[in-house]
Amino acid sequence: MNPKTVSVVIPCYNEEDTLPVLFDKIDKILSLNDPEKYTFNFVLVDDGSEDRTLELLKENFGKVDYATIVERKENGGFGAALKSGLNSAEGELVVTIDADTNYDQMEIPRILEQLTDEYDLVTASPLHPDGHWNFPLHRFVTSRGVAMLYKFALGSKRQKIYTFTSGFRVYRKKILPDIMPDANDFLATAEMIINALLKGYRIKEYPCVVYDRLFGQSKLRTLATAKSHLKLIAKLMFNTKK
Ligand code: UDP
Ligand code: MG
Repeated sequence: MNPKTVSVVIPCYNEEDTLPVLFDKIDKILSLNDPEKYTFNFVLVDDGSEDRTLELLKENFGKVDYATIVERKENGGFGAALKSGLNSAEGELVVTIDADTNYDQMEIPRILEQLTDEYDLVTASPLHPDGHWNFPLHRFVTSRGVAMLYKFALGSKRQKIYTFTSGFRVYRKKILPDIMPDANDFLATAEMIINALLKGYRIKEYPCVVYDRLFGQSKLRTLATAKSHLKLIAKLMFNTKK
């Protein structure tokens, strides 16, 4: 089997409280480097943090060849940070995941196994019947609600997707230019999967568990994000051929 390079993109905004846990997971993932399968590198994006995030990233990864630190001078939002990271990712496969404990970074090798030849991207799917939601209820209601509206807006002929909003994914790098999102906010993940669906890329959902974060705070503002989703849903309803 051809060994593959995997870039793991991690946007970080004011994450100093959770970084020690992340750094420990990064070490564990690096120990899984297998010359016959995968070699990992990390793209750590500091999205203009006001806390010690950038300092900690530099302290731990400033001088290693397996990590790139992308410095954004000002906070631009999750989507903006994600795009900066994706643009700096050089691996043949590109994983995206939060800096916090919403998804267990130790699931990265497992999501990679799901990317068999017939797929272009795999998305973690806690809303899949075999997945599990261990996360606040109001987020379940909004994620489930927007997923239903997206399904309706995209029409019955398209592939059925349970979770549109997960940030834990693996993409083949070659499809990224075709599915880059416009949004600088939390809409970005939904936009990417919709772009992929509309362009006929082959998507696999990986049922898995989403956990609440153990350290630090979520930056997502539910109402503002729901509003962004509703705008995109309305746009799709008018523009998508069913
Ligand atoms: N993030 C970022 N810039 C922002 C907001 C968030 O880089 O303006 C990062 C954040 O540090 C985290 C990821 O994006 O790694 C997702 O954000 P968060 O965990 O706060 O959102 P949630 O998981 O609750 O949806
Ligand atoms: Mg998170």
